[in-house]
Amino acid sequence: MKSQPKRVLVIGGGYIAVEFAGIFQGFGSETTIAYRADLPLRGFDLEVRETVATNLASRGTTVMPNTNPKEIKKNDDGSLTVSFDDDVDDITVDEVMWATGRVPNTDRPDLGLKEVGVELDKKGAVVVDDFSQTTVPSIYAVGDVTNRMNLTPVALMEGMAFKVPPRISQIQRLFDHTILTFFWQNSKGHRGFGQTHQAGLRKHRERGFLPTPRRDGRDD
Ligand SMILES: Cc1cc2nc3c(=O)[nH]c(=O)nc-3n(C[C@H](O)[C@H](O)[C@H](O)COP(=O)(O)OP(=O)(O)OC[C@H]3O[C@@H](n4cnc5c(N)ncnc54)[C@H](O)[C@@H]3O)c2cc1C
Repeated sequence: MKSQPKRVLVIGGGYIAVEFAGIFQGFGSETTIAYRADLPLRGFDLEVRETVATNLASRGTTVMPNTNPKEIKKNDDGSLTVSFDDDVDDITVDEVMWATGRVPNTDRPDLGLKEVGVELDKKGAVVVDDFSQTTVPSIYAVGDVTNRMNLTPVALMEGMAFKVPPRISQIQRLFDHTILTFFWQNSKGHRGFGQTHQAGLRKHRERGFLPTPRRDGRDD
């Protein structure tokens, strides 16, 4: 992007979409964010998701939940008109940013992963066991390319496990990906640590404990 768009649409509801919508809005672009779910940040705590949706709107971003983009048409003046499924009105913007996910860059023939027998899953991520070992015992993989928890501290932790002496490295490489750290910043400066409230409830139920009901009666 060579210049700041006057009007921009960010498609996607993940933290990267939210982050960029915040950046564009902060620079003064007329910003719209559109996502398929009713709240952004799927997988994060419900309270956080509700707060972020409210904060986006209160900062002036147009929030379009429950929307599925159908078509983008380029107009004579270079602007883009985006239409959506269902009865959602079209919008016209100068730029559209897709933040709908990333795929591992593993199908390059020069890497030769398949040729040596490294198994890839259907998204192209390198399949590894709990010790980051691939299906070829002498080849290990860490980070986003394994599509476990695609976060910086996780990639660092997985990589650092290979820095320790071999006798303890096996233990160090076995870690629990349900305990994760993530971080991002909005106007409230949120940080996150640990499993989500919803994941905690699921674990409680699996173990036969009854969680304390929320005051508003919701538990999801
Ligand atoms: C916009 C954005 C915002 C993000 N914000 C956050 C955040 O707030 N918090 C968080 O925890 N995570 C965040 N992430 C995710 C985080 O960036 C990744 O989880 C992390 O970078 C993964 O590290 P990695 O080393 O596995 O991969 P990468 O950081 O992608 O590093 C892979 C490296 O390998 C190189 N490479 C690729 N193929 C080859 C090859 N064949 N030969 C040699 N080199 C190669 C690439 O050029 C790259 O330098 C964000 C990601 C994006 C895109």
